[in-house]
Amino acid sequence: DRKKLRGLKTTTAKTLDGTAIELHANIEMPGDVEQALANGATGVGLYRSEFLFLGRDDLPDEDEQYASYKAVIQGMKGAPVTIRTIDLGRDKMPKWAEGEIISAANPALGLTGVRLCLAEPHMFRTQLRALLRAGRHGKLKLLVPMLANLAEVNQVLFHVEQAKEGLREDGIEFSDLVEIGGMIEVPGAAITVGHFLKKLDFVSIGTNDLIQYTLAVDRGDDSVSHLYDPFHPAVLHLIAHVIKTADQANVPVSVCGEMAGDVRLTPLLLALGLRRFSMHPAQLLNVKQIILSCDLQKLGALRPMLEQAADADQVREMLNEVVA
Ligand code: PEP
Ligand code: MG
Repeated sequence: DRKKLRGLKTTTAKTLDGTAIELHANIEMPGDVEQALANGATGVGLYRSEFLFLGRDDLPDEDEQYASYKAVIQGMKGAPVTIRTIDLGRDKMPKWAEGEIISAANPALGLTGVRLCLAEPHMFRTQLRALLRAGRHGKLKLLVPMLANLAEVNQVLFHVEQAKEGLREDGIEFSDLVEIGGMIEVPGAAITVGHFLKKLDFVSIGTNDLIQYTLAVDRGDDSVSHLYDPFHPAVLHLIAHVIKTADQANVPVSVCGEMAGDVRLTPLLLALGLRRFSMHPAQLLNVKQIILSCDLQKLGALRPMLEQAADADQVREMLNEVVA
């Protein structure tokens, strides 16, 4: 019940065998920090910065962005904060881009995420400057969305260096310690993740888009929503591959898509080796409750079973066998 769940707020998230699990919050506005802390989040794993750019005709300037990023970092009182760089396009079209930058017939495959940032270097550079400045106020990490090609990582790193250079020239203080991570949410990036890991400080799996692109199912289209299935073995194979490859490379990996906050999937993600989750704050305590009852050794039986699963229903059956 609700009260018992509330009591878990300060309980450390660990499995029955004592393995610590990180539970971070996804937020969209600085005001969401309150809800994250109220639900025991030990960090922000995904701050969707593009919400600052939606529902308005102009672009937020460097100082406005700095104020928002700083508010989140300070609000989290020293806990790590991961801010995603602008992820517009697809399902998030800003007013100023309508019929202009983004007029593609197929926006999910068009100028979106990091692609849009690289095509609009002034917009991107302004955000990077604001972020690097805000980094002085706590433990900040940047997360780059929709990576598909290694060249995009190199270009982003170049822009970060240029932004630092500009701040130095202007005599403006910033942090040199901001980590740069990438979202793995395009199947091509998941398959070749080993190469991305060499250039990045961490990765976070965006399962919302990963499911959409792996199964060719529009995440917002009701007519095919029955086919949008996180239990599909293809999705789980990709997630398992990313986690295993990141572990071998000693690079931290998290899941920040909705799968991370889905209690049906918690044992499965633990079995695949996931130790870092980021989710909507309202799900944090529910997931923690499941984690506290999970035995990693017992869940290990799931991995070889998953290799054999032909479809999502078989995965669900296997899960019921092992978790029941
Ligand atoms: C995702 O794709 O899983 C994700 C976390 O990003 P968004 O839902 O904002 O696209
Ligand atoms: Mg995404």
